[in-house]
Amino acid sequence: MRDPLLLTPGPLTTSLATKTAMLHDWGSWDHSFNLLTARVRSRLLAIVDGQDEYTCVPLQGSGTFAVEAAIGTLLPRDGKLLCLVNGAYGKRIAQLTEVMGRQVSVLDFGETAPVDPVMVASALERDAAITHVAVVYCETSTGILNPMQAISDVVAAAGKSLIIDAMSAFGALPLSAAQLRFDAVIASGNKCLEGVPGMGFAIVRTAAVAQCAGRAHSLSLDLHAQWRYMEQTGQWRYTPPTHVMAALDVALDQFDAEGGQAARLARYADNCATLIDGLAGLGLRVFLPAEIQAPIIVTVHAPNHPNWDFKRFYDLTKARGVVLYPGKLTVAETFRIGCIGALGPNEMTMALDAIAHALQQMQIDC
Ligand SMILES: *Cc1c(COP(=O)(O)O)cnc(C)c1O
Repeated sequence: MRDPLLLTPGPLTTSLATKTAMLHDWGSWDHSFNLLTARVRSRLLAIVDGQDEYTCVPLQGSGTFAVEAAIGTLLPRDGKLLCLVNGAYGKRIAQLTEVMGRQVSVLDFGETAPVDPVMVASALERDAAITHVAVVYCETSTGILNPMQAISDVVAAAGKSLIIDAMSAFGALPLSAAQLRFDAVIASGNKCLEGVPGMGFAIVRTAAVAQCAGRAHSLSLDLHAQWRYMEQTGQWRYTPPTHVMAALDVALDQFDAEGGQAARLARYADNCATLIDGLAGLGLRVFLPAEIQAPIIVTVHAPNHPNWDFKRFYDLTKARGVVLYPGKLTVAETFRIGCIGALGPNEMTMALDAIAHALQQMQIDC
């Protein structure tokens, strides 16, 4: 029997080949595992055309661990981060920076608008103490797409360092070191690369990370130390997520076979269009206007009906093999549907059928 489809933005549905890749054991010292680590690092680097000036530093843990390590390692102790916020993940970057005791200033755009580069430029002009800027590429809490090129241009013009949380964008949305100027891009294996959870990584400018010895607030979340150790020994500091890396290596084979980032974007865009059309047919309204909707995750207004109950809706759709995601907004009652994972048009149609049946069983007429 098949597992339920995860229409959630990570963990997500992985292919059988990716799951099967985990049916082995590797020693952390083993040469074949070290080769695998090196191969995955260089494949991740190539996805963003980072071979010349960047290095890929993988890190154990969920994506947030890698974000926290990147900020803690790159932002000097007397530096100041300008955090561009339009949702929960941007807020999380500000929060983790505060927790580590570094200076952070927040520019908040609410939950429904993309980051405005003009306002970023004036914030940088107003506060000369800012050294780094952090932004989320696709704000997964809604699915909003932020204008990365314009943000990168403004930050570069001000001579500041840009740190991009590209967790839910990496591998699907365009992202190239040839176009954007950044010091770090952070992502994880379990989103658009369609691997399993357990590791994140940062693509960091080699010249920048090389200057960061002793800067981190944490022993285990020190990207410089992880990088140095990996360069010197080919191994991870501390126990590596062996099975997760093996799964990612095979997931990257499928990424290449599909046609790389452009092909993945095309499939996700189809998934997203199928979903949005189908939802409209069911009388459900999507939360974002099309111009700022990334084809990664769709936020949907909950039906305005006395019978609405997300928990019941969730259970009913799950009984039909489809797992949905609760909303994460303060401004409106919503739920979310992921477009990413090893899923195509058939699975989107299956999700729409499950939603239609659930609404019928709940006697909700939209
Ligand atoms: C998934 C995600 C993260 C990391 O979340 P974890 O639960 O720690 O893996 C960070 N930023 C964005 C934009 C994300 O989508």
